[in-house]
Amino acid sequence: MNDILDLHTHTIASGHAYSTLSEMIRAASAKGLTLYGCSDHAPTMPGSTHNFHFINFKVIPRNIHGVHVIMGSELNILDFDGNVDLPVSTLKRLDYTIASLHIPCLSPGTKEENTRAYVKVMENPYVTIIGHPDDSRFPIDYQVFAKAAKEHHKLVEVNNTSLTPGSARAGARENYGILLNYCRDYQIPIVLSSDAHFETDVANHRYAWELLESLDFPEELIVNTSVEKLKPYIPVLNDMFGEPAGDSCCKGE
Ligand SMILES: [Zn+2]
Ligand SMILES: [Zn+2]
Repeated sequence: MNDILDLHTHTIASGHAYSTLSEMIRAASAKGLTLYGCSDHAPTMPGSTHNFHFINFKVIPRNIHGVHVIMGSELNILDFDGNVDLPVSTLKRLDYTIASLHIPCLSPGTKEENTRAYVKVMENPYVTIIGHPDDSRFPIDYQVFAKAAKEHHKLVEVNNTSLTPGSARAGARENYGILLNYCRDYQIPIVLSSDAHFETDVANHRYAWELLESLDFPEELIVNTSVEKLKPYIPVLNDMFGEPAGDSCCKGE
């Protein structure tokens, strides 16, 4: 399957990742990606960068080494009301965001509390993707989660790092098995992500693809195969890639 993008990646700005933005994009180029998204951890993650890091992305070209580049952040969900750790004034400037639960930023609650954290963060219009909702350390009600993702028009991530043997996120394979059945039933698009913290891992979606193939998950719900599928979620892509071929250009000429 033609996998052309990776939107969950980290650079040295995250504090526990080890490649520069330039190195990550060069790796994306070498792997033939069309679109690379950078999503460094927002400031509450210990060792990550300051809010100011996220307000100056305008200096970064939109096309580097032949790869289209969008800039966002992986936000930390701070509480069971779904608050996140960048101000709206910053969120407005980002191309997209991922919202995730992380142990250093929020201690797991009850199943009801964890589910509420996700549902409330999905009400945030600046959240694009829900990151790695696969961790048994944060048990959730997957049916409630899926219904909220559908209602609030959020992409659900299938995170390759969670599925990699030895991952700290427990039970990811089983949890995705449950969640992806709901995504299929409710027609919720998903995005495969590497969660790369080093350049060699950019676009590594190996375990995620293996899982989707084993579940015979429908390709039309996987946004990685086409920028067109992603445009409804990330408005800047309409400017970067223009209208779909055949819809706008040269008709009748
Ligand atoms: Zn990280
Ligand atoms: Zn994360």
